[in-house]
Amino acid sequence: MADSTVKKKSDSPEKVMEKIVSLCKRRGFVFQSSEIYGGLGACYDYGPLGVELKKNIKDAWWDFMTKEHDNIVGIDAAIMMHPKTWEASGHVASFSDPMIDDKTSKKRYRADHLIEGYIRQLEKKNKVADAERVQAEFVKAQNAENMPKALYDLIVAEQIKSPDSGAFNWTEVRQFNLMFKTELGAVADDASILYLRPETAQGIFVNFHTVRESARLKIPFGIAQIGKAFRNEIVKGNFIFRMIEFEQMEMQYFIKPGAQKEAFSMWQEKRFNWYADYLGINTENLVWYQHDKLAHYADAAYDIKYKFPFGTEEIEGIHSRTDFDLRRHQEYSGKNMEYVEPDGKERYIPYVVETSCGCDRLFLMTLCDAYEEDVVDEEERTSLRLHPKLAPVKAGIFPLMKKDGLPEAAEKLLKDVQKYFKVQYDEAGAIGRRYRRQDEIGTPYCFTIDHDTLKDDTVTVRDRDTTKQERINISQVKAYLTDKISE
Ligand code: ATP
Repeated sequence: MADSTVKKKSDSPEKVMEKIVSLCKRRGFVFQSSEIYGGLGACYDYGPLGVELKKNIKDAWWDFMTKEHDNIVGIDAAIMMHPKTWEASGHVASFSDPMIDDKTSKKRYRADHLIEGYIRQLEKKNKVADAERVQAEFVKAQNAENMPKALYDLIVAEQIKSPDSGAFNWTEVRQFNLMFKTELGAVADDASILYLRPETAQGIFVNFHTVRESARLKIPFGIAQIGKAFRNEIVKGNFIFRMIEFEQMEMQYFIKPGAQKEAFSMWQEKRFNWYADYLGINTENLVWYQHDKLAHYADAAYDIKYKFPFGTEEIEGIHSRTDFDLRRHQEYSGKNMEYVEPDGKERYIPYVVETSCGCDRLFLMTLCDAYEEDVVDEEERTSLRLHPKLAPVKAGIFPLMKKDGLPEAAEKLLKDVQKYFKVQYDEAGAIGRRYRRQDEIGTPYCFTIDHDTLKDDTVTVRDRDTTKQERINISQVKAYLTDKISE
């Protein structure tokens, strides 16, 4: 159906973001955690509509990984793991961010972000040669043996000032470990220190053999997991983009050494296409970013970034992790992590290509991509153009009036379809108001029961995006929604 609505002139990116955050709170998608106590920085709670949307995003990922690939299985590992896990993985020694403090404002910054911001400013001012020079110095500094000092020297050499106070009054750059520590049991000695996992991946590596054997998997195969991860992020912000407690969706794909290039390109392509095919994201808003500095475990790393209103930022990392993790777990646990080919002729520690995305970032991206303001019948409206599969509520069901047996007929329809779909009944206010309420939360279809329904069993179905209406038989409502959702 052709779109008969008129797009509204767009606001500034800051204003758009403000409106999305406000909609999230007002309509119960996401809000500040423990708000009655003033909130807790970088912690958010998902409300009734938020949990539905988030679940739909997770299902889209889970089904893609574990149903559409018969060599990928899922697990759900514990958040708390043996502390040796994090020594083996390298997180105790090096999962840290370089931090620098502005002594004037007492505000703390990530030194790498500060330099990146400075490079972006140079680009904005069209100082292309300077931007390129600093970028080259930045890459050198990130790879330097004493990285914190190299970053500090670059900040000093470029006289980069504090974005909030404008002062040039920095501390040195120090490394700050991002893992949250807690203690097991009553005795506080070193042996009882536990970490909240900063990534879900290690739960997959330590279970490599158990899962492989129980599911009778042969290389190449993958293990997928969705779960909470925790990072003591000092620099927070941008709503749910950077949180201290968040959810990851990670898949580790185990391959024969030497096969990593091919597997890496395959997963790059699959993951990029997934965003358009499963979340309906406009791919013009997605960009590839190749890492200049590789993590301690990687031999190749690309990020997929999304053009958020606040900037182009990472939503997913695709990393070729070599055999680093399994080899280290073999070393630290003393357990053999080798895989033996079915013919018994070859044995090796598998290489791994991982795809790792943050569910909360995908949630925010989906909202930003779907958010739209337009004018319908000379009235401004806000809508979320979510794919019906992702929409938290699939349909609104309305009696035209609160009399003449229309509510009873609408309730009957509600009972028939709510076994299969999340739907909302609404009889309050004018029909136009009811449409607007559903548009704003992304409900793709609204069914209205009127006097004709009582005569000929037809209902009006109205499309959120085009606002066009058509009549269908009431017995077709379930099939109609099924078709649209699976389209
Ligand atoms: P960033 O550079 O933004 O800190 P990262 O490179 O540390 O991210 P990874 O360790 O690769 O992120 O984690 C994989 C994914 O987990 C990221 O692409 C992101 O979607 C998500 N993620 C990581 N940290 C956070 C966070 N603090 N809040 C929400 N999601 C996160």
